[in-house]
Amino acid sequence: MNRTKIIVGWLFALFSIFVTFAVTSVILVFANVVQDKLFYVIATTVLLIIGGIIMFLAALYLNERRQIKEIIKENDYNLHRKTTFYSYNFFTHVLSGIRIKNRKGYMVAFNAVKSSGSTTYAMKKAADFNGFLSDYIVETFLGSSQKKATIRDAYYCFYRGNFIFYLICDEQKLNTFINELEDEAYRISIEKDFRLYIQPSFGIFEHHEDVDDQVYDMVNKAVAAREVAEKNYESTIFFSDEMLTDTTSDDADEISAALANNEFVVYYQPKFNLTSKTFISSEALIRWNSPTRGLLSPMRFINTAENGGLIHKIDMFVFEQVCKDLDETRRKGRRLIPVSINFSLYEFYSPNFVDDLINTIEKYNINPTLLEIEIVEGTTGANLFLSISILKKIKEYGLRILMDDFGVGFSNFNNLKILPIDVIKIDKSFIDNIEEDVKSREIAKFMIEFSKEIGLEVVAEGADSQKQVDILKKFKCDTIQGFYYSKPLPRQEFEKFIANNPFEKKENLR
Ligand code: C2E
Ligand code: MG
Ligand code: MG
Repeated sequence: MNRTKIIVGWLFALFSIFVTFAVTSVILVFANVVQDKLFYVIATTVLLIIGGIIMFLAALYLNERRQIKEIIKENDYNLHRKTTFYSYNFFTHVLSGIRIKNRKGYMVAFNAVKSSGSTTYAMKKAADFNGFLSDYIVETFLGSSQKKATIRDAYYCFYRGNFIFYLICDEQKLNTFINELEDEAYRISIEKDFRLYIQPSFGIFEHHEDVDDQVYDMVNKAVAAREVAEKNYESTIFFSDEMLTDTTSDDADEISAALANNEFVVYYQPKFNLTSKTFISSEALIRWNSPTRGLLSPMRFINTAENGGLIHKIDMFVFEQVCKDLDETRRKGRRLIPVSINFSLYEFYSPNFVDDLINTIEKYNINPTLLEIEIVEGTTGANLFLSISILKKIKEYGLRILMDDFGVGFSNFNNLKILPIDVIKIDKSFIDNIEEDVKSREIAKFMIEFSKEIGLEVVAEGADSQKQVDILKKFKCDTIQGFYYSKPLPRQEFEKFIANNPFEKKENLR
């Protein structure tokens, strides 16, 4: 039984007791059994009023639950049924236990929609479609309590546009599962009139009972096989070694070794406030200082780290390094400005996320207002309820929350209303063409005005020319981060740069 039913049940029981008392009192009064009639009349009235209030509260509570459910339904299109489709973290966590040892199974990656258009509209439609499909999958094939379920020993999550299943069953059941899922994808698309390019593709990695496979590795291999299937217009392909490009599991091992060897460094990019003409904060950006390949951009390794389950270590490394650096700057008596740290979607839901943050802050005794968290829309799409509660905890502790890359991907205005965000960072793609493209300019202007209207601060990302800065200034943007002011710098250089602040003088002269 769920919590709502239990609470409403208790309220109703209380109400019934009050009504019973009230009715008994009335009978006693009318039967002339009692002496003090006035007392009983007052007592009856009071009991009925209390009963009425209880029922009113129950109705309010039910109504609030209904509204929250509607909000979730509107937003939670990635994981339509968050209780039935697990997060990737949870999935790997559960499977990494004893469940797969000594048992043959299949890691299956599946997607029904051909990944064509990448507009927000197309992505939203595909996500809505996946929502319907996930309902069907869980009810028909996998649900543990459903009588109909054909495969009972199944684990599943939604990961980077793929439905991932780990199925412990024989090959015949696997084939039935695949055929029925394929049919269902077409049926839902037609019945609900989705008008999407449906092309179901399955990638399968077969796990043998005597092999010690890692979960993330199996997922990567199933996804790689699915991508080959999709490309070749085939329905089902089993994984084979040549499908792996050189950027997946091997690199994850390399990243792991690099972490142990302290090869990662944190750079800082300052953010310039147009009103105060000072650098009011900065963003921490990771680099891999590889002895063999030189300084590598995060674009080259963040994806691999995410796929390889290493992003938790990477993000916490950055967070701790930032706290250490702030502590050192404070000891030297230099100017301290807040730093924002990027957190990956996969990191966000790890069970100890908030505790880990707080412990690190306390270890270095950092004022929480010097720290900010950058999240992207996708971070919150997976599980809105959990996101709200995690973000609230972080915010209550004193950190500010920034919405990164706003305007691209799964941007959703409703999220701005629901999530406890302080700052919006307008994606670089709008700033890039702000001079020559009227549409980009108008959109940037609109986003700045609209964000301020709903009480949020605005940072424009990626301005690298004087002209872009001038336009942003005209639109009354609060803060700018971009190569125009400075590239991301190593800590020492960064400290010197903000102390010197060449832009304050420059601005004053203009
Ligand atoms: P982001 O969070 O949107 O960071 C801004 C990126 O834009 C940075 O790239 C920054 O160097 C770049 N940038 C800023 N101004 C300009 C400009 O004027 N012109 C151009 N061309 N680029 C500009 P970077 O450092 O390569 O980082 C790329 C992405 O990698 C970041 O995008 C973020 O999503 C991710 N990332 C970086 N560090 C971390 C980290 O510690 N953890 C996680 N999870 N992700 C990180
Ligand atoms: Mg960022
Ligand atoms: Mg960004």
